[in-house]
Amino acid sequence: MITCQACGTENADDAKYCTKCARKLDPETQKAVVQKRASYSATGLNLSKLVLTAVVTIVLVVVVIVLLVHIL
Ligand SMILES: [Zn+2]
Repeated sequence: MITCQACGTENADDAKYCTKCARKLDPETQKAVVQKRASYSATGLNLSKLVLTAVVTIVLVVVVIVLLVHIL
């Protein structure tokens, strides 16, 4: 699918012009947009992974401290 940059209508992959507003569709621009979106989602994934790792580490540290306090 090629999404029209002007009106957002989805056109066939081989379409040269938008079926709704007749704007010229540029597959190269479309690819760049998709790649940009992909890298954004990859960054978001890494960030959530990082946050999850941090939370797990904090929980582990708290558990160790609580165990030490109980033992001592
Ligand atoms: Zn359009």
